Amino acid sequence: MLWRFFFFIAFQIAGGALGWWEAGLWGAAAGVSIATWVWFIWDFWRGSRVLRWLRQGDPQTAPSLRGMWGEAADRARRLARQAQLQIKASDARLHDILSALQASPNGVVLLDEEGHIEWCNQMAEAHFGFDAGRDLMQSVGNLVRDPDFTAYYNAQNFSRPVALQGRSSTPTRPVRISVQLYPYGDGRKLLLSQDITALEQAEAMRRDFVANVSHEIRTPLTVLTGFVETLQTLQLTEDEQQRYLGMMSQQAARMQSVVQDLLTLSRLEGSPLPGMSDWMPVEALLRRSEEEAEGLSATLTVNQKKHHDIVFPSAEAMKASGQIAGIVTELQSALSNLVNNAVRYTPPGGTITVSWEMLDNGNARFAVSDTGVGIAPEHIPRLTERFYRVDRSRSRETGGTGLGLAIVKHAVQRHGATLQISSVLGKGSTFAVVFPASRVRGSTVAVVKPPMIATALQQAAHSASMREPAEQ
Ligand code: ADP
Repeated sequence: MLWRFFFFIAFQIAGGALGWWEAGLWGAAAGVSIATWVWFIWDFWRGSRVLRWLRQGDPQTAPSLRGMWGEAADRARRLARQAQLQIKASDARLHDILSALQASPNGVVLLDEEGHIEWCNQMAEAHFGFDAGRDLMQSVGNLVRDPDFTAYYNAQNFSRPVALQGRSSTPTRPVRISVQLYPYGDGRKLLLSQDITALEQAEAMRRDFVANVSHEIRTPLTVLTGFVETLQTLQLTEDEQQRYLGMMSQQAARMQSVVQDLLTLSRLEGSPLPGMSDWMPVEALLRRSEEEAEGLSATLTVNQKKHHDIVFPSAEAMKASGQIAGIVTELQSALSNLVNNAVRYTPPGGTITVSWEMLDNGNARFAVSDTGVGIAPEHIPRLTERFYRVDRSRSRETGGTGLGLAIVKHAVQRHGATLQISSVLGKGSTFAVVFPASRVRGSTVAVVKPPMIATALQQAAHSASMREPAEQ
């Protein structure tokens, strides 16, 4: 400032001196006056350059000036640049926050004071059928027409969520979403939505499961109680007593099997995945299955003229079957369950064939084929559900709990294997387990091509495995 003042004075003195030299005293006065005007016009021109640049608002095109106006322009340029950087940083932060909300597995909608949609993520678009481009600043009440939501929104009590039907819901694939509003800021609201279809399904399955378990236990218990009362109240002969006691022991065994299978299932779910360090001979698993199948067949065909024809691989083939890695009890339970089912669902006189093959892709295939009752295609996808039975009475008669295939499926899945089911009603079924190459070694049995399973049955097997998470 001081420097500017001295420069102004020096400019006046120079003008005055020049005038004095040219025209004496009057010349000096005219010189000072002209110098003042020149100073102000020059200064005005410099100031207006700075003002014009400030009006344009582009820090890059700042005029290069010296002196006070130059410093003012420089400071303004630095302030503008700082503001620009701050805006950029805020934009980047906002972008990050919106990207995080976009990545959220839940639907997120930001509503203004009047309930207009300010922003929503893709999940919310899917849940409510919004279009972020089209529906911005539309009232959420107009777009979400579900009466439950309208009642919830109007009640203005947002302490609990409300469950609605999802926009993509169909009668065959119901979609349920849970919605909750959270007021924030100055009357704004955050709307969060979550897909609870699987949760509700799991809850329904849990209820069914408890009901099923209670039913499975209660039925033999009721029968047992009945027999106890009969024994207590009636005078029975020795023979009758023995008969009743025999039936009571059958019911007790049935309860025991259900509890045993339930424990097996819960162990399968709770224990760590099978490692790759424990190798066992496949032959031992096959031999044990064979013994169990023969024993079961003998029990089921006692007093019958015909018996089952149970065909296992020859002794040499069994020896050449190599080793498998996993948990022996789980693998034995899976293989035995399949072989026993084949015996139970094949009338006496039928044939059960068990095979162990190496496939040309390195996998190994254990298969049990029977010439039994077979299964209608619509039942196949549901066979591995707990307590699902096609024929209840046959299952019970032969000591079934309805849990066998659920155990098989869990056990094989834990070993990275897949369960394939193919069947023709009235003709027979094939249940096969394909183990991954990594879990088998040392097998010298003949290598075969993987058999083609009929497409419908493959789909059925696929959908059976898709049901897994919702199962009880
Ligand atoms: P269960 O104890 O009733 O046999 P599973 O889970 O082992 O229960 O099998 C479920 C249902 O699958 C059975 O009730 C039966 O209807 C059917 N099933 C299983 N294996 C066979 C088979 N080899 N042949 C025909 N039906 C079978």
